[in-house]
Amino acid sequence: MRVPPGVSPDNFATALSQFSNAVGRNWVFTSDEDVNLYRDAYSPYWHEPEDRVASAAVAPENVEQVQAVIKIANTFKIPLWTISTGRNLAYGGSAPALSGSVVLDLKRMNKILEVNDKNHYALVEPGVSYFDLYRYIQENKLKVWIDPPDPGWGSPVGNSLERGGGRTPMRDHFQAVCGMEVVLANGDVVRTGMGALPGSRTWQQYKYGFGPYVDGMFSQSNFGVVTKMGVWLMPSPEAYRDGTVMVPKHDDLIPFVETLSYLMNSDIVRGTMLLDSPLLNYRLSQGGGILDMPGGPSVAELEKLAEEKNLPYWGAELHFWGPEKVIDAQWEYTKEKFSAIPGTTFKEGKFYRFPLELKETDDAPRPVIGVPSLSVFGLLTQGHMDFSPIIPMTGGAVLEVLKAFGQAYAELGVEPKNQFFVLPWAFFPRAFVLLFGFPIEHDVEKNRKTREVFKRLVEVAAEHGWGEYRTHTTMMDTVSEVYSYNHHALRRLHETIKDAVDPNGILSPGKSGIWPKRMRKSEA
Ligand code: ADP
Repeated sequence: MRVPPGVSPDNFATALSQFSNAVGRNWVFTSDEDVNLYRDAYSPYWHEPEDRVASAAVAPENVEQVQAVIKIANTFKIPLWTISTGRNLAYGGSAPALSGSVVLDLKRMNKILEVNDKNHYALVEPGVSYFDLYRYIQENKLKVWIDPPDPGWGSPVGNSLERGGGRTPMRDHFQAVCGMEVVLANGDVVRTGMGALPGSRTWQQYKYGFGPYVDGMFSQSNFGVVTKMGVWLMPSPEAYRDGTVMVPKHDDLIPFVETLSYLMNSDIVRGTMLLDSPLLNYRLSQGGGILDMPGGPSVAELEKLAEEKNLPYWGAELHFWGPEKVIDAQWEYTKEKFSAIPGTTFKEGKFYRFPLELKETDDAPRPVIGVPSLSVFGLLTQGHMDFSPIIPMTGGAVLEVLKAFGQAYAELGVEPKNQFFVLPWAFFPRAFVLLFGFPIEHDVEKNRKTREVFKRLVEVAAEHGWGEYRTHTTMMDTVSEVYSYNHHALRRLHETIKDAVDPNGILSPGKSGIWPKRMRKSEA
């Protein structure tokens, strides 16, 4: 059996038996068969010794059991890796950053404590999945929508803590968090925001409470175990519509994104949009790289191709939710604003009134209308690891990205065809995010090359002032390395907090590049 680093086999055996006493024998997993379920199915280290593998897993049922597990882990200095439902695929799945950690699996804590459709929020435990919450709302005929990520498995707690994104106006999942309950490494149970006031009536309505606002400390972190979370929901809208805006020329991207940014920051266009390029996608489908490789076709050549094929250079599908007359007016106004760009064309899209009876077969864009779905797996035929830098919401930045990454690809001697998406998304307000899906295979050599490209792109991005919003567990040190302002002042602050709140370093060592003192390279 694998043993956590620095823990003797005897001590580990004692700890496992104490875990069993705390949570029940059936909820401590040690067989290879069980523990392998916590491996990262999309690991970039498949078949290599660096692959991250847990030593065991323990699944508590309630807060008291979480406290008991934490106490035992402190006694034996056992690293725990906390997961909610463990669906963090493309960013590490449920595998720990430190091999040999014991997975603290919170799936059994799956109570929906409240859903309020008058003030529009939910209070959930970590094991509640988006599907669970959706079904509960449907069964109880509540007038609220969830905002599922694609794919819609995973949990509001896990996804929000990772600062994931969805499609509706509630797309910025951490922004929608209101109030948490957290078990600290010393076993203390903290309620944040208004939850600190016993008998509070507004824990899920007002985020900040009194004094420093600490909720952010528990996201993408290893400072505590979140056992309850409030999430704001969207009131069920009356209607939805979408429409596509397209512009013909390369340089139109500048006013196009400027208009988009104005409309989004004015709350006229809401939710997530993907910047599309029918022209570049066509070129890709014909075997041409989508990135701006040195020696590739010139802008003039591409524009000629656009004209010949009658393809717009840039486009975006925009989405509107709300009362019918409001969203009609928003779409009309959107068209008016974009019409200032010569040659802009529009395409009317889907329109729904709610409640909507969804049939299995219809092609309604489920996550966009608040319905969790796994259909994205139909598009992603292969395991992947995501590289996701945040870039400014400007046309200039998008063009710079294509050029910079095109050049990096050329220098590394790889074809830029191995991404699923390269154009930016607006998953979060005010900035774009790029989602590069690097394919993962059971081929050591190919994965090695992929890691090399990934690491180089992190550096190239940083040289241009772009940084990742989230990363794969095996790349956390790499990404943390570029967030280095003032000799890594932020990482040093994270480490100071880590040492104070978790002196034995038992919670998720290595998460976001934050290592406990005893494992820190600089301390060795
Ligand atoms: P999901 O439930 O959406 O599948 P995961 O369980 O995979 O999400 O969690 C994603 C990441 O978020 C984990 O790797 C872990 O670092 C962090 N995390 C998840 N749940 C918790 C929690 N309850 N408390 C603290 N951190 C958590």
